[in-house]
Amino acid sequence: PSRDQVHYFGAGPAPLPTPVLEEASKVLLNYNDTGVGITEISHRSPDANAILAHTQSCLRKLLDIPESDGPDGYQIMFLQGGGSGEFSAVVYHMVSLWLARLTTKKQQGLDHEVQKMKLDYLVTGSWSLKASQEAARLVGSEHVNIVTDARKHNDGKFGVIPPSDSWTPSKHADDVALTYYCDNETVDGVEFPSAPDGPNLVADMSSNFLSRPVDVRKHAAIFGGAQKNVGTTGITIAIVSNSILPPHSGMADSKLLRKLGLPVGPIVLDWPTIAKNNSLYNTLPIFDVWIAGQVMQRLLDQSPEDKSPRITTQAAESNQKAELLYSILDASDVYSVVPDRSVRSRMNICLRIKGGDADAEKAFLKGAESKGLLGLKGHRSVGGIRISNYNAVPVAAAEKLAQYLKDFAKEQEG
Ligand code: PLP
Repeated sequence: PSRDQVHYFGAGPAPLPTPVLEEASKVLLNYNDTGVGITEISHRSPDANAILAHTQSCLRKLLDIPESDGPDGYQIMFLQGGGSGEFSAVVYHMVSLWLARLTTKKQQGLDHEVQKMKLDYLVTGSWSLKASQEAARLVGSEHVNIVTDARKHNDGKFGVIPPSDSWTPSKHADDVALTYYCDNETVDGVEFPSAPDGPNLVADMSSNFLSRPVDVRKHAAIFGGAQKNVGTTGITIAIVSNSILPPHSGMADSKLLRKLGLPVGPIVLDWPTIAKNNSLYNTLPIFDVWIAGQVMQRLLDQSPEDKSPRITTQAAESNQKAELLYSILDASDVYSVVPDRSVRSRMNICLRIKGGDADAEKAFLKGAESKGLLGLKGHRSVGGIRISNYNAVPVAAAEKLAQYLKDFAKEQEG
């Protein structure tokens, strides 16, 4: 089939707006009338610098991110290594920062003091679990405090966010190098209704980036791979508070980190280095930054200029599509939505058919495919059906899928 005959609901990599891809095919051959393609130009050329500045500026407007100057400012960085690379980067960075803060207070008995360090993780799905496992691998599980493990409140499975009065954050805020959560769990279809509280808050927003307003100022750092809501696979976006970057905040000396058995990270994941070089420490895949900028520009163009943050128009559309799909799922006993109603994701809608009947789910996927509705299979670790409702899924696609959901239910019920 051709592109206009299918609607793709894959979880990531995910759909991109067709006009962006059409323009991309042109700039791959000849960027800005230079006679050279965009993947061929230097990442240090004026053209590349303009692309970088444009994408950063769009993102600032969309999420109302404070400007880059001053202690209250935020840096917007582009890194490589995916969301998974940032699972490690956040640990390297926040541990180093914690140690630097500690050493300014205490000179004696550092070895002993370091034993108190805690990394607080909220485990609400497969990706926050993975991030917590990476922290344990790097610093030792004795330093990782699981504030909540949602599986313990839901028969061993993800699908809820336990109430905050059941959480067990580390007792002393001073011990906490970071509080980590994954805003939207892609595999399990669980999304935080709003950001949790905790010292040195870090969020993984890989799968709901740019889908709703975010209280950026509440966070020390936010990161997300671009390949779902924002662009192509190849860059990870990090929004990092100046308050945790030099010169506003010291970082621990690598010799000291090593002496205390704490991790020293690879330079390409080192936020201070990437920030100081405005993401140009090493070769930046500028094409990916360009794609993200085009996607963001479209979001800006559809939103009123006097609004801040400018993401509200897209947020309304995301809600509208999600509400439509959930309302149909709720209307038939053929379907069961996996996560609890209170934490249903607007981005990844996870469901079972007839309680997980393999034949019925197979028939559903086959029927969908014949109608050009693709990418609906659940993650291999959990099975079932997953509808990924990212920004580039048009309302018309959600409506077509909604009709198929209705028809399929009727057929099964009849
Ligand atoms: N975090 C979330 C929420 C994800 O959905 C994913 C990938 O799907 C990742 C992290 C890992 O991203 P990557 O594959 O870019 O390392």
